Amino acid sequence: MENPSLSFYGLGIAPKILEILANLKFQIPTPIQHKAIPLAIEGKDIIGIAQTGTGKTMAFAIPMIQHLAQTKSRGLIIVPTRELAVQVQESMSKIVQGFGIRSVVLIGGESMHTQIQALKRSPRIIIATPGRLLDFLRQKQLHLKDIDVLVLDEADRMLDMGFAPDIEQIIKMVPAQRQTLFFSATMPPEIMKMASRYMKLPVNVEIAPHGTSAEHVTHEVFIVHKDMKRTLLGKLLKQFRGSILLFCRTKMGARKIARQLRDWGHNSAEIHSDRSLAQRRQALEGFKTGRFRILVATDIASRGIDVKGIELVINYDLPDQAENYVHRIGRTGRAGLAGHAISIVTPEQRNDIGNIERLIKIVLPISQHPEIPQMEFEKPQRVFSAQSFRSRGGRRPFGRRRR
Ligand code: ADP
Ligand code: MG
Repeated sequence: MENPSLSFYGLGIAPKILEILANLKFQIPTPIQHKAIPLAIEGKDIIGIAQTGTGKTMAFAIPMIQHLAQTKSRGLIIVPTRELAVQVQESMSKIVQGFGIRSVVLIGGESMHTQIQALKRSPRIIIATPGRLLDFLRQKQLHLKDIDVLVLDEADRMLDMGFAPDIEQIIKMVPAQRQTLFFSATMPPEIMKMASRYMKLPVNVEIAPHGTSAEHVTHEVFIVHKDMKRTLLGKLLKQFRGSILLFCRTKMGARKIARQLRDWGHNSAEIHSDRSLAQRRQALEGFKTGRFRILVATDIASRGIDVKGIELVINYDLPDQAENYVHRIGRTGRAGLAGHAISIVTPEQRNDIGNIERLIKIVLPISQHPEIPQMEFEKPQRVFSAQSFRSRGGRRPFGRRRR
């Protein structure tokens, strides 16, 4: 099943680069790539925070190369160590193939002479450690006047290593008309300080580190017409054999769905405020022992449900509050076991999904059922400008993200 949200398509990447990515067998963008690439291609300044090993290099390399392919400008990538400089160059060389864009690595411990020779071939990507780069600048072997994309990779590490004064000196030599991208595993306050000084309304793109509640949970969203929700549910229930916790928004809804499940022949029980305490306890007990495979619940009634080993949480309705999504999925994937959460949503619920994604810092992948017509989210009514995003407290609405 081709799932567009799980591929590099739709992020604004040029066809030629998509082809290269396919050849490299890069099929699914990592979360930081999924979030940062479209924004970087739009030309936004970005602070990208994600753990080591999550693909941050491509998150800036792809947009930078795409930009350089369209202009005559140059890009500068500042990294803390020589090893990393070489590694970044290797990664980028895979993508620049066929674009005729040369890169140079300026690092200490190597002869300056060789690097000067390389600079004479007018490389358009400069990857450098701060100290050696400053040497070149001071000796006027290099200027930064035509740099219009600036990347600070592993920004936190550079600050730890005491490079802040060097970096500030370098940044001041890069034209103000530029795109600035900071990538880092953590977000110390000094990075924010530097960002506020040297970036234009940066967008924060932060991917939740491991150890959050959602660690062992995979997510899926189906967008369908309201009238198809039940049909889809019926098909999903046939696919999953394990225990299922199914959430409805109202007790009315829970009652109706529970009746439907029984009609379909599923062993199921329900807990909501119309049930007595004894009935609820019975339902829960039966769910735990396996007598009922499916438990239908409302948010209020489900508080404190502590059942281990639930394979699947189905959000037949999204919760009224994004926070409740976290509580709901907390019931699956417990104690290191893998869990799965499926949300069935209608086209007008884009904002609700956006709120949840912002809260859990995960992009919820959209799936398609082969037998159910897929819908798309309705276009947002209003597009927020970067300015209004700022005045709303620094959190960027998700409305503009491409799907
Ligand atoms: P980070 O900078 O976040 O520590 P890297 O950019 O060094 O992570 O990437 C880590 C590894 O993941 C690299 O070997 C890279 O080739 C690989 N990688 C990056 N993006 C993808 C992707 N979308 N699919 C598969 N592998 C990827
Ligand atoms: Mg990196």
